[in-house]
Amino acid sequence: MLVLVLNAGSSSLKYSVRRFDPDRPSGGVRIAKGIVERIGEGGVTDHVQAFDIVSGELDEVLGGRTVDAVGHRVVHGGERFTGPALIDNEIIRAIEQLNELAPLHNPPGVQCIRAATRAWTKVPQVAVFDTSFHRTLPEHAWRYALPEELYRRYGIRRYGFHGTSVQYVGQRATDLMDVRWEDFDGVVAHLGNGASVTAVRGGRSVDTSMGFTPLEGLVMGTRSGDVDPGVLVFLLRKGYDADGLDSLLNRNSGFKALAGHNDMRAITEAAAAGNEEAELALETAAHRLARYIGGYHVACGGAQAVVLTGGVGENSAPFRARLLAKLGPLGISLDPAANEEATGLEEGRTISTPDSAIPVLVVPTDEEHAIAEATVAVVGAP
Ligand code: ADP
Repeated sequence: MLVLVLNAGSSSLKYSVRRFDPDRPSGGVRIAKGIVERIGEGGVTDHVQAFDIVSGELDEVLGGRTVDAVGHRVVHGGERFTGPALIDNEIIRAIEQLNELAPLHNPPGVQCIRAATRAWTKVPQVAVFDTSFHRTLPEHAWRYALPEELYRRYGIRRYGFHGTSVQYVGQRATDLMDVRWEDFDGVVAHLGNGASVTAVRGGRSVDTSMGFTPLEGLVMGTRSGDVDPGVLVFLLRKGYDADGLDSLLNRNSGFKALAGHNDMRAITEAAAAGNEEAELALETAAHRLARYIGGYHVACGGAQAVVLTGGVGENSAPFRARLLAKLGPLGISLDPAANEEATGLEEGRTISTPDSAIPVLVVPTDEEHAIAEATVAVVGAP
């Protein structure tokens, strides 16, 4: 059984093809993968065109074979989608209605779903949502202290994102720790261009730093994360409009604002060479992340582990070292040699010392793997 996964980001389209065999149903084996990048910035105008490129590459890779199922990553599932959904026209319309809640992130997913259901009319297709894992958030964690009317009328509440990744790396971490996922309490930080932290209690999400949109929380590549909402009111009065605020907060803030650009490798090198802006950017990001981890240690009832993943979590030993230096009060201390070795690994590994009160693990994420498994679970194993 061949499963295609399409992972549409705001400016990229990643795909992978995995083969699932009856004797080894779990996870499958990846037989192809690829990416179309910088969508909307140059040669490739939108995700429909990106889909055509991917479809052409698939024809070559598959050489006449067809895929048996397609799994789509969708960022926002609102309150309706608490798990993966088999796609039909009604489901597509329901996902489209959520575009308003995630205008940068949902439309690419919907465009790919429409293109793929047109191209492969007979192939079952499944939508897997970043928000679903957070369906278990207790109301005191998902409520904002705003009038209930805003929740009822507009759905303004915390949804949380990165759920597919958080659940995947959390489960991998519990395998490594020999703990049952259902018994796991811990903090999982997905640190990529977008970044969030989640408190997990008994294998369920109980708090998470992204909110109504993927803008709240940590300092990110180009997103501000937490700011006093009073700043937005102030700027509106100064003449900013909705589009101006949107582009300020989503595209021109975060590391880009503090350090001039959003590539973590270049920022760490600049900081090491004495660049004060880069140093401040890293301190600001690590400080906020450490503060969230401390808070979520409490929210999850006492973490058994802290798990780091995403492009930065997996690859930036200097940023991990900076973070762990701030986690001393939790009884965590860094094993520098393990930290250096943990970069770019296929498997996870522990980067804290054996006598740390709470282990810190680096676990590579694989959203496509998780989406493929969810897809097979919906359409039926081979
Ligand atoms: P996305 O959120 O777009 O999926 P990723 O999880 O792939 O992002 O993370 C991308 C970020 O990871 C890049 O912006 C970069 O800052 C960081 N990164 C990737 N490789 C390295 C590396 N070798 N060293 C430090 N940072 C890295």
